[in-house]
Amino acid sequence: MSLQGDRTRALYQKGKQYIPYGVNSNFRYWGDDDTLVIARGEGAYIWDADENRYIDYRLGFGPIILGHNHPYVTRRVQEGLQDGTVFAWMTPREIELAERIARMCSVDKVRLSNSGTEATMHALRIARAYTGREKFIKFEGHYHGMHDYVLFSTASAQKGALGSRRSPIPQQISSGIPAHIREYVFCLPFNDFELLERTVAAHWGELAAILFEPMMGNTAGIMPAPGFLQKIRELCDQYGIVMVMDEVKTGFRIAKGGAQEYFGVRADLVTYAKALGNGFPIAAIAGKDEVMMTVHPGQVSLGGTFTGNGIGTAAALAVLDVLDNEPVIERTTANGKRMMEGIGHILTDAGIPHSLSGVPAMFGFALGTDQPPVDFRAYLDSDHGLYEDLSYALIRRGVMPDADGREPWFLSYSHSAAVIDETLNIFEDAVREVARDYKGSPKPSIDVVE
Ligand code: PLP
Repeated sequence: MSLQGDRTRALYQKGKQYIPYGVNSNFRYWGDDDTLVIARGEGAYIWDADENRYIDYRLGFGPIILGHNHPYVTRRVQEGLQDGTVFAWMTPREIELAERIARMCSVDKVRLSNSGTEATMHALRIARAYTGREKFIKFEGHYHGMHDYVLFSTASAQKGALGSRRSPIPQQISSGIPAHIREYVFCLPFNDFELLERTVAAHWGELAAILFEPMMGNTAGIMPAPGFLQKIRELCDQYGIVMVMDEVKTGFRIAKGGAQEYFGVRADLVTYAKALGNGFPIAAIAGKDEVMMTVHPGQVSLGGTFTGNGIGTAAALAVLDVLDNEPVIERTTANGKRMMEGIGHILTDAGIPHSLSGVPAMFGFALGTDQPPVDFRAYLDSDHGLYEDLSYALIRRGVMPDADGREPWFLSYSHSAAVIDETLNIFEDAVREVARDYKGSPKPSIDVVE
């Protein structure tokens, strides 16, 4: 049974005439029958074009930290628009925003951009310019955006083509990437101390950066093993490699100061995007003074027409106000805990083996296993088919997680205890439906397009 009502289907079909696959990002394509068209959002809820209401746990893939259409953010953006948007000069808002990000996130210098992709692209260039080296390490199942250098062994990779874990093969995720780009990247399983040490020891003279998500925001919220982020820090210090923490999903979400604060580890460069704007396009590359000052007009390029634009900066200033003045993180964490515990109890009662991971504002769970996966390869052994069935059962009942268990459940400040309880009631009902057919054997994994 299709997820689309009549109006959604008609709009989608029209979109398909003009937009490849009817979507502006491949991740939004769920097939011709299940790709939705969302008309509006408010707080924890979204409504599709047929006026079906969903409690939203995708939150635009993470940006919505306060709730959809947050009145204060919307008002501040409207006020900001009165002043115009871009001038090819600096604006007072950009300066205020840089100062506030520096204070909140313990970074020395900040440059603004528009998306996570732009931020990680620029961070890599800075790291290369700073070290005079060209290669970098990333981790399997970590996603850093759409530019060529990082589209290897992301969460869309297929297990069979990742090679042996002793000598992993970088798996190119898309056609259209020049073949030699692959020579610049080492892709390692996350949380493997020995392999990381061995790779750095063998190749440090070529390594500009270790680029990583501090927790696996694109693979079910898998957490770093105790000491793993510290090990990255130690190796970067020892071998003069730039430590680039990609906080596009964790920043302004898991703590006010992001993962650096949460895990107590300071990187050389940090990238932010999503929650910084609560849905408005804004991103930042930030970090230590010495590394950031590699950006030098005429020597190291970093810029763009829309960097620091009036809409994104007004939105970000409003988001930081709310983070500063209201218990956003505390409440989201408390409600997320309630949700994680509730999900755990319901799955246990239904006899479905599971393992929850992540933090309350951004968590995931693997089904068909009670062994917590520690990396992408281990996650792929869980029961994706069951996860997908459960997600569709939830969506049909008005609760919207991603159908792909690699994408975490995101919570916002608007997901009150009452919203969580409503979700858990629906979750129980949906689990009852899928548990009826559960035989305990993993089904084949679903395909993911990028
Ligand atoms: N980095 C991480 C950790 C992400 O999760 C994403 C997107 O999901 C990106 C970078 C890319 O951000 P954007 O989609 O804004 O380009």
